[in-house]
Amino acid sequence: MKYYSTNKQESGVCLEDAVVKGLAADKGLYMPDRIKSLPDDFYQEIDRLSFQEIAYRVADAFFGEDIPTDTLQDIVYDTLRFDTPLMPVSDHIWSLELFHGPTLAFKDVGARFMARLLGYFIRKEGKEQVNVLVATSGDTGSAVANGFLGVEGIHVYVLYPKGKVSEIQEKQFTTLGQNITAIEVDGTFDDCQALVKSAFMDKELNAHMQLTSANSINVARFLPQAFYYFYAYAQLKQAGKADNVVICVPSGNFGNITAGLFGKRMGLPVRRFIAANNRNDVFYQYLQTGIYTPRPSIATIANAMDVGAPSNFARVLDLYGEDHTAICADISGATYTDEQIAETMRQTWQQHHYLLDPHGACGYRALTEGLQPGEEGIFLETAHPAKFKDTVERIIGEPVTIPAKLQAFMQGEKQSVPLSKEFSDFKNYLLTRE
Ligand SMILES: *Cc1c(COP(=O)(O)O)cnc(C)c1O
Repeated sequence: MKYYSTNKQESGVCLEDAVVKGLAADKGLYMPDRIKSLPDDFYQEIDRLSFQEIAYRVADAFFGEDIPTDTLQDIVYDTLRFDTPLMPVSDHIWSLELFHGPTLAFKDVGARFMARLLGYFIRKEGKEQVNVLVATSGDTGSAVANGFLGVEGIHVYVLYPKGKVSEIQEKQFTTLGQNITAIEVDGTFDDCQALVKSAFMDKELNAHMQLTSANSINVARFLPQAFYYFYAYAQLKQAGKADNVVICVPSGNFGNITAGLFGKRMGLPVRRFIAANNRNDVFYQYLQTGIYTPRPSIATIANAMDVGAPSNFARVLDLYGEDHTAICADISGATYTDEQIAETMRQTWQQHHYLLDPHGACGYRALTEGLQPGEEGIFLETAHPAKFKDTVERIIGEPVTIPAKLQAFMQGEKQSVPLSKEFSDFKNYLLTRE
C-alpha cells in the first residue's frame, strides 16, 4: 500500500517511510491510496469472531501488503491484550469502554500498535536505535511511554511541563525506567512542543541520532483505532441490535472519529456518526456553516479535547473530497459547556449508576439528545473516570475508587531529568547520551 499526503505534494510513499516520518514533507497528513472493503461474509460472521480476529482482518486490509502475515498477526494480538467491552447504560445507549488498557485511555491501542510496528521495521532493517521524542500535556505521554516500554531498538523521551500535569499522569511515565526517559521541563506544554520541533529541525542532532515522533497524526497510531469500531458493531450484533447503529465520538484532534469513518468506508454498517465537542467546537461550527475557522483552544474539564485546530480535519476533508454536504450526511455535531458536561455526569451516575468521565459525558449526552426512534447508539468512553479523579469527585460528590492498575503506578518511584526550556540544554543532553 502506498500513502499520499493530504497536501498532494507527496505520493507513492511506502508504509515504513510514512510511519518513520509521521508528517509528510509538505506538512500534510498521510492517507492510504486505497480503502479496501471487507467482504460480506466477514460482516455476516463478525459476531462469532474474537476482538483479535476482527482486528487482524481490519489490519490486513491496510497493512497486509507490507507486513508478513505472522508478524502482523503477532503485532495485532500483542497490541490487544485487553478487552474493549460494550456496556449498556440506558435505553438504546451503549458505552464502548476503551479504558481497559495499561494507561486507561483509548490512546493505548494506537500507541501499542505503532510501537510494535516500528520495532518490526527496526529489526528488519538492522537499523540503529530510533529515538522517539514526544511532548505531552498528560495523556499522550503515558500512552506512548507504556506502549513503547521494553520495545527493543527504541528509546522514548517524554517531555512534560514541570508541575503542570496531575500526579497520576506524571507517575504513568516517570516510573517506568528501561527504555523510557522522562524529561521535566521548567516551562509550559508549548515550550515542550517547541523543544521537540527544534530537535527535529536540528541538523547536527539528526546526524548524531535517528529521531522520530509518535504523535497522533502518525498512520500507525491512527488506523488501528478502526479495530474497536468493528468490534463494537460485532458486540451489538450479538445482542441482536445492530440494524441502525449510530456512533458518537468525543473528539479533539479528530483522529479517533476519522478511524471510524474509515471503517464505514470499508463497509461497516454504521448509519451515521456524531462528533461531540466541548466548547472547542470549530468542527461543529464547520458542520453548521461550511466554513472552517481554527482558533486558540480554551481550557475545559474535558481537557484532552481542548483543541482549537484539529489536525485530522485535513483527513476528514480528503476522505470526502472536500464535499461539505457529503460530510454532513455522515457526521453531525454537538457541543457542550463544562456545566452541561458536569450535569450529564451527575445525572447518569444518579439515574443509571454509570460513572462517565468528562469526555465520555459529551458523547453520552449527544446520544441522549440526538438519537432517533429505531436507532441504537454507541458512545466511545475514551478514558477511565479515575484519571480525572478530582474533577469527577467534585462533580458527583463521592469518592472515586482508583483501579489497581492506576494504583500500581502510584507506588512506583518518580525518575526524571530536570531541564530548562532552552534548546541548547536539551540538545547537549541528547548529544551526550550515547
Ligand atoms: C485524546 C483524547 C480524546 C480526543 O481524541 P481525538 O482522537 O484527538 O479526537 C478524547 N478523550 C480522551 C480521554 C483523550 O485522551
